[in-house]
Amino acid sequence: MIDLRSDTVTQPDERMRAVMAAADVADNVIDVDPSVRALEERTAELLGKPAALWTPTGTMANLIALSTHLRRGDKFLAPRGAHVLTNELGSAAWLAGGMPEPIDTDAGPGRPSSAAIRRLAAGAKQAPYYMLRTALLCLENSHNAAGGAVTPPDEHVQLVATARDSGLAVHLDGARLWNAAVALDVPPAALTVGTDTVSVCFSKGLGAPMGSAVAGSIGFVEQARRMRQMLGGGVRQGGVVAAACLHALENLDDLAADHANAERLASGLREFGWDVARPETNIVLAGVADVPATLTSLREIGVLALPMAGKVRFVTHRDVTTAEIDEVLRRIGEERARRDRRHEATSARA
Ligand SMILES: *Cc1c(COP(=O)(O)O)cnc(C)c1O
Repeated sequence: MIDLRSDTVTQPDERMRAVMAAADVADNVIDVDPSVRALEERTAELLGKPAALWTPTGTMANLIALSTHLRRGDKFLAPRGAHVLTNELGSAAWLAGGMPEPIDTDAGPGRPSSAAIRRLAAGAKQAPYYMLRTALLCLENSHNAAGGAVTPPDEHVQLVATARDSGLAVHLDGARLWNAAVALDVPPAALTVGTDTVSVCFSKGLGAPMGSAVAGSIGFVEQARRMRQMLGGGVRQGGVVAAACLHALENLDDLAADHANAERLASGLREFGWDVARPETNIVLAGVADVPATLTSLREIGVLALPMAGKVRFVTHRDVTTAEIDEVLRRIGEERARRDRRHEATSARA
């Protein structure tokens, strides 16, 4: 099986396991776990924020951020298809208390325009008492459901400025911010400019077995630590995992290889006549007539993918090699040829 379902399926390699085994740890609720602290400091620095907090998952990181930005009766804006809208079981609404409103991605894949934000945020703060108050813009870079599409730094700065003008706070869901930074060839901090909070994952392209972080001001992280505890995220000797996350940050540059593999896969599929846009990072979205049937026939030839946004999603990651991408294409090509031969045989009989 060649597993292209997600970049979360990677196995910690020998070196990462050794780092975890040797990690300096302590109870991170009663005291401070030194490995967790080291990861948080490094993450804050990379993201250009005063502080960061480790969380077990990206979903918890987003929920903590949204809980601090939103009060019941508030509304928040997020690009259509955003993870906080579609993949977090509505916790932004039922736990953080904010009514979600999708923004049209009219500037490009996964990217809303400033005008769209301005329109939806108009009068956010002057709303009468019986109306929802728009409090937050939640961006996503790269945008998962849009096929790992990236927002460049200049456009990001404009969107943040528009949100600020309208009196909104800004959270960035940067689960794959590392991929966006590598694809755009900018430091990660260039993509967090002006945001109040940002979440990132170490468990995706970077290969850690688990772990995310949420970053922002010192005051935000103080509140976030209490919220993490409320949510049951007060992990004790978390340093065993944090050490893997810190080690995973050394893999940042390797993401370029995943992006090249995604491009190789996309162009190969296009040669077979598949409807595939050029990937901007490590996610390839293929438009096919019948998604479930395609996923089944891919599984039959030992290729795993997932449905996403009405398409077939392939994700490249550090546990698939370029040779394996070529093998995927070879198997798909072979399967096509077999089908064509069957077709010819049936037409000949008819
Ligand atoms: C994966 C992901 C998350 C968080 O996922 P977890 O599985 O909870 O770590 C958040 N946002 C986006 C865009 C993601 O792709």
